[in-house]
Amino acid sequence: EVNEVKETYVKPQPKAKVNGEIWVYIDHTGDEVNRVSWEIMSEGRRIADLLDTKLAGVIVGDDEVKPIIKEAFNYGVDKVYHARVKGFPFYINDVYTRALSKVIKKYKPEAIFFPGTRNSRELASTTAIEVDTGLIADCVSFDVDEKGIIYSTRPDFGGKEMSTIICPNHKPVMITVRGGVFYPIKIPKEGEVIVEEIEDLSTKFKVLNYTKLQKRNVLAEADIVIGVGRGIKSPENIKLAEELASVLNGVVGVSKPLADMGWYPKERQIGQTGTTIRPKLYIALGISGAVQHLVGISGARRIIAINIDPEAPIFQNCDYGVIGDIFEVVPGLVKIVRER
Ligand code: FAD
Repeated sequence: EVNEVKETYVKPQPKAKVNGEIWVYIDHTGDEVNRVSWEIMSEGRRIADLLDTKLAGVIVGDDEVKPIIKEAFNYGVDKVYHARVKGFPFYINDVYTRALSKVIKKYKPEAIFFPGTRNSRELASTTAIEVDTGLIADCVSFDVDEKGIIYSTRPDFGGKEMSTIICPNHKPVMITVRGGVFYPIKIPKEGEVIVEEIEDLSTKFKVLNYTKLQKRNVLAEADIVIGVGRGIKSPENIKLAEELASVLNGVVGVSKPLADMGWYPKERQIGQTGTTIRPKLYIALGISGAVQHLVGISGARRIIAINIDPEAPIFQNCDYGVIGDIFEVVPGLVKIVRER
């Protein structure tokens, strides 16, 4: 069943009509795009359609970004603005802020979505100051109303509540979006590239060395994730989950207490203060379903929970629930999958 899930874009009916475009900032490291840019492009497409306006990508960089611009047209953009900063293939805050602000002031978009990456979060905040608007950070879902106002929802109060924020009096609405929440949907389009040459390239920064990180986040990219919680009782028992992951070709992730106790690497923590995952299948083993954990798995297509406690909140947030002991259910599951 998992393999049958298909990603297609269904164009929504417009709820309002706005004049400005919806922009998505394309985050990159010179010649390589940050995947979160494509994730939020599909959500940007939906918001643009709801507001009956165009979707544009906006990118700052030198000519190395041309293949990325080409690729953007696979993800539903009507056009791409390229603020060309000659000699600056990589992100440098003051140069990129000036370049982006220039195109914003000239073309006046309705809203700009930024990937929640380290560089883009910084760029969004310095650009918001430069163009004299506000910034809504770390959002995970969006809607619009019949007046064309965008509603951005984000976890708040340490993840205990969700807040919905509007910015009706300032344009553009600037928003950073958490990675791993949306799914990149291929929507091939054709459109124009508008190049803006940036003249003022003065900078206070001096780059001494640039090192590309090779590390990929296997958890964020996995199709099947086996989540392990305190119900596993000891670090040695995690091999049970690893066995299930191995037969299903999945990856093991953990709840925060397990990462805090050093039972599993911190980069495998799922949730608000860990990684947001979007697998096709998430199997939660001995996880209670605290809100800070749920926020990280809300994008999972199917959730199966195995927990001994019928009252565990995870059962309110799963597609299939097994009330049972993981030490009995999981070996049986491994056996069944192996025999198939
Ligand atoms: P527990 O809540 O202790 O649940 C263990 C579960 O195992 C229970 O439901 C129990 O019934 C079940 N169980 C026990 N034995 C068995 C068995 N033999 N078979 C089956 N089931 C069994 N948590 C995260 O996960 N990620 C985060 O990013 C995160 N960020 C946080 C940020 C903040 C600011 C705060 C305050 C908290 C955060 N937390 C986060 C912690 C969160 O509130 C919970 O404490 C945590 O998720 C609980 O982990 P758990 O489900 O593994 O443990």
